[in-house]
Amino acid sequence: MARIKVWYRCPTCQKQHNKESDAIACRNNHPILAESWAVGKDGKAVRISDHCAPNGLGGINWALREADLSDNIKIRTRQLEEETDERNER
Ligand SMILES: [Zn+2]
Repeated sequence: MARIKVWYRCPTCQKQHNKESDAIACRNNHPILAESWAVGKDGKAVRISDHCAPNGLGGINWALREADLSDNIKIRTRQLEEETDERNER
């Protein structure tokens, strides 16, 4: 007759273990993942990709600029115009 067997699955890597203690140890062995985000003056957060060039899309300089730009298209347009004006005044 079939029997019931309980396996314990690590919630992080999904690996099955025979003992709950092994699953707990597995879960606790996974490293904490650090993420870098650019946070703008109004609290907008933009993820910085480690795999992008600093000035490229997703890079640190792009993210820092993007975080300060509004997602509201009208405000964003005004911000970009002000940015252009500041550049032209120099
Ligand atoms: Zn695991």
